[in-house]
Amino acid sequence: MKSLFITATNTNIGKTYSTHLLADYMNSQGIKTIIAKPIETGDNGNEILDCQRHSQYNLKIDQSLSIEDINFYRYKLPASPFVAKKYENISTEIDFDMIYQKLSNLESKCDVLLIEGAGGLMVPINEEYNMLDLARFLKASMCLISSDKLGMINDLVLNIEFLKSKNIPCIYAINLINEENYNTISKPYIEYLNTKLPNPIYILQKDISKITHDFLSFS
Ligand code: ATP
Ligand code: MG
Repeated sequence: MKSLFITATNTNIGKTYSTHLLADYMNSQGIKTIIAKPIETGDNGNEILDCQRHSQYNLKIDQSLSIEDINFYRYKLPASPFVAKKYENISTEIDFDMIYQKLSNLESKCDVLLIEGAGGLMVPINEEYNMLDLARFLKASMCLISSDKLGMINDLVLNIEFLKSKNIPCIYAINLINEENYNTISKPYIEYLNTKLPNPIYILQKDISKITHDFLSFS
């Protein structure tokens, strides 16, 4: 069993979208893939939650799975878990051991577990830990999704440099929304970077088989 933690350069970049694309591809290849979102904020009744979307998706793959199997903490305020928990005066700490155990149970039911983080890597969960710490605690491989919009080069390179400085391997993928704009504004530099980096920056929609292959090749 393998698990892949999906993070991004920021919130609203396309983690949920990318996670479903990856799950669709893997399931189409006969790799039984399910999705979890252990911590979610913004549970204010106004929008469909990521964990609800993932739960719907999982039912197509395994009818025994419920939302409680894939989501363990939900907070009302659309903010980091650190802030959202304080906003509701919730004193119960987020328990990494519990998340690990629940996700391990889930892993026994599939070939690949995709775990969607909340926001980006440095989003605080509590006074001690952030999203990157959670991904590391879960011993999951990592995939970082980048925007394709103006500003993405700075955000992506900051994330790459940060992870490199910590020796943390990660797959990088750009979520292509406006290809023409991306080709003009950012592609020339990303192509240049790809001549320098040991691991390529992928285009999510075009390189999904390579992303899957790289992930499955991680030890
Ligand atoms: P959050 O941090 O809230 O979990 P997210 O990183 O999961 O956000 P998404 O919800 O996947 O982001 O995407 C944000 C919005 O952009 C959604 O409305 C989604 O449908 C849209 N979106 C993302 N990627 C694409 C795409 N490639 N083409 C069209 N729409 C997209
Ligand atoms: Mg999401």
